[in-house]
Amino acid sequence: MKYKEFELILSSFRCNKNCPYCTAKITKWPVVDDKIHCLETQLDYLKSQGISFRYFIFCGNGEPSLHSYETIQTVVNTIKKAGLFDEFRFQSSGNIFFEKDKLDLIKKDFIVEITRVDFDSKKDMEILGYDKDYINSPLFKEANIRLNYVMLKHKSFEEYLVEIKKYLDTYPNIKTVSLKTLNLNTHNNDINNPYSQWILNNALTKDDTDMVIQKMAQNADFSVKDEVFFDRYEWIYADKPITFYTKKLDYGYSNIVYYGGELVDYHLNKIQLKK
Ligand code: SF4
Repeated sequence: MKYKEFELILSSFRCNKNCPYCTAKITKWPVVDDKIHCLETQLDYLKSQGISFRYFIFCGNGEPSLHSYETIQTVVNTIKKAGLFDEFRFQSSGNIFFEKDKLDLIKKDFIVEITRVDFDSKKDMEILGYDKDYINSPLFKEANIRLNYVMLKHKSFEEYLVEIKKYLDTYPNIKTVSLKTLNLNTHNNDINNPYSQWILNNALTKDDTDMVIQKMAQNADFSVKDEVFFDRYEWIYADKPITFYTKKLDYGYSNIVYYGGELVDYHLNKIQLKK
């Protein structure tokens, strides 16, 4: 059976950004020994169960590129050897574009995922709390990029579209854009924390899904692809896909997370495999 994502989530909680909606800080998963040495065994197990994935995603409760070169190299070698994935993605705060050796490990085979709230780097840096303008750094141009475009409430839908076109026209290495609503809390329903409150006040959430789909229909030619499996809409601009995940299915549907050596779901329950 094909799953959607295999997410490797490491638990350093170290990051060079201070996003006001930080998922790691909202969900507060326990700090664990990442047990990277068990990754190969778990992938072999999944293979023996006839399972493969559309995407491998290297992410973290924290910035993955702050892990050592050796850790990243071990992960990259292990997942390539497994042969279970159609595509590889590396989610970064942007720090990877100042770590040439680590970027060299992944840039050929991975899409690097970045997340932004504004085209203007000064504003993006101010809102997301970081101090190096990675998108205009020399190494940025060397990677294939997926842009997670966070939709903030103070902009109109027309402004989103103008800004997205600007990204694609300015940075040809951005290969795809994913429109993002933010999750208030994927671990439990507690929104009594400053990060969830910031999201409520400033960003679109899954309650805005239907509005986004309606606006997309009015403003852009879009086609629906893989709707049931991927739970998404897709619009093509300048031959590049702009996707929107509707989040109408259960969160994490068809995903498996590797955390602390275990295969789990987003509630940290051991995964029950679908076959
Ligand atoms: S980049 Fe990720 S881990 Fe870092 S502060 Fe932002 S949301 Fe949190």
